[in-house]
Amino acid sequence: MASLAAALTPEVKLVWLEAPGSVTLEFPDLTGLIACIRAKAPQAVIALDNTWGAGLAFNPFEMPGEDGALLGVDLTVHALTKYPSGGGDVLMGSIACRDKALYERLAWTHSRLGLGVAANDVELVLRAMPSLNLRYAAQDAAARRIAQWAQGQGGVRRVLHPALAESPGHAHWARLCTAAAGLVTLEMDPALAPERVDAFVDGLQCFRIGWSWGGPVSLAVPYQAKGMRKLSTPYEGVLVRLCIGLESVDDLIADLEIGLSALR
Ligand SMILES: *Cc1c(COP(=O)(O)O)cnc(C)c1O
Repeated sequence: MASLAAALTPEVKLVWLEAPGSVTLEFPDLTGLIACIRAKAPQAVIALDNTWGAGLAFNPFEMPGEDGALLGVDLTVHALTKYPSGGGDVLMGSIACRDKALYERLAWTHSRLGLGVAANDVELVLRAMPSLNLRYAAQDAAARRIAQWAQGQGGVRRVLHPALAESPGHAHWARLCTAAAGLVTLEMDPALAPERVDAFVDGLQCFRIGWSWGGPVSLAVPYQAKGMRKLSTPYEGVLVRLCIGLESVDDLIADLEIGLSALR
């Protein structure tokens, strides 16, 4: 918040927000950030990457601020690649906004740039959209079960998931959100060498290795937090980001349990 406030001037045209933080999943004080931007850069368009929320976890256009007044961003961007497609086999994105004039500026720029998407990709996303809320709810519930189970497991220092009280930004998540997507990050024991964490990820049978998320197949990927980006919270161990798919949660937990017990 302080570093954003320091960077804002009345000339700022666009501020890009994301919630929660990539991989580390800390949930920001979105309404506090918006209030700060509106005060210091009144002309700025506020954009939110809402891929994680998918339009279901919270309403970014109308959020109650500290004083109860409603605050919102001007536009949201979604990677349709993730939950809306749900298949892990399409690359597409969307922009949503409420203001007609802003919409017309965006639509005009879009057409001038000659951007387009393939009709068969559109068909896949449209076919998947009616089941978006069911898939999102199932992956949310599964991820929460796995996050709770992972707390206190040997080899895991901390579990990062906005619905857990120990996760940074939990209070902001609890105030604004009713759901939490299907991502969980395990901060591994700092005593474990990165090679051992890589071997743990390699050895998982139900999880494939991959960076994307929102599809039916669970994915795992190790990250070195140090140097990833400027983080206000220090992360000591290697991070293993899990994306929970649509498999049996018992099978996923059993798979993780076998992998973690091999690390001890
Ligand atoms: C994956 C992702 C993107 C990029 O989406 P692609 O369609 O894969 O290029 C953007 N923002 C967030 C938060 C994402 O998770």
